[in-house]
Amino acid sequence: MTMIRLIAASLFCACFACHSCRPAGERERSVSVSILPQRYFVERVAGDFVKVNVMIPPGANPAACDLTPGQLKNLYNSSIYFAVGYLPFEVTHLYPLLEEMKGIVLVNHSEGEALLEGEAGGGHDHLVDPHIWMSPARAKRMAATVARVLGERFPARKELFARNLEQLNVEIDSIDGVARRVTSGKKNKLFLIYHPALTYFAADYGMRQVAIEHEGKEPSPVHLKAIVDTCRSRGIKTVFIQNQFDEQNARAVAGEIGGRVIAIDPLNPDWKGEMRSLLSIIEHQME
Ligand SMILES: [Zn+2]
Repeated sequence: MTMIRLIAASLFCACFACHSCRPAGERERSVSVSILPQRYFVERVAGDFVKVNVMIPPGANPAACDLTPGQLKNLYNSSIYFAVGYLPFEVTHLYPLLEEMKGIVLVNHSEGEALLEGEAGGGHDHLVDPHIWMSPARAKRMAATVARVLGERFPARKELFARNLEQLNVEIDSIDGVARRVTSGKKNKLFLIYHPALTYFAADYGMRQVAIEHEGKEPSPVHLKAIVDTCRSRGIKTVFIQNQFDEQNARAVAGEIGGRVIAIDPLNPDWKGEMRSLLSIIEHQME
């Protein structure tokens, strides 16, 4: 932590030194977010009027993310930060840094949300499940917050942002409708997943996820056996994996239960495409 602060402090100086070469409007119109799906919401609302800096790079495990000087520079060069709320990266790295970067307005998407408990342990050690963006209802509220905050910051564009938000809402409602139809027809509402990224999605649609990862760590043989038993007794054949996490254990479980391993990507930059793909998987591959 001390190291990061030192780097941050020296970056402040570097940035102040070159203020003349960086127009104020450029920083004003740059916003930072934690994950790629958030960039989708900001761009749908604001188009290319704002530049979006994503702090957790593609393919990185959001649970274990150290900041590079380049990332810190991009962070400092933004006027607003939209945080998911309880991502491990945000809790351990980001919030302490933002406390010292007074010029950046922090907007927390989890504020005011009814949150669900997560698993304790290495990945999410704060007992709050952070994955709110995978719920269409919550994604709508995230986009609405983006439109409100940017509308207040750039009043001349407020109506445009509102119109863009309305269009996005129509599309999210359509996804929600498909999700209701697809999930209500399922006999088996339980599915396995390596990392529990679908907590809020499952809660919205009366499904239940069972995580292979245990307390943010690789599962123990005892935990794996319990999972295999659950799957056998309930006839579960679907095992979701995410490419940011180790898939060996998921493949082992799938082998034991004669199930299929299916890759999903909750950090997909194309949020809508990912939701459609997830729903198509549930529709066609789950009983
Ligand atoms: Zn996660």
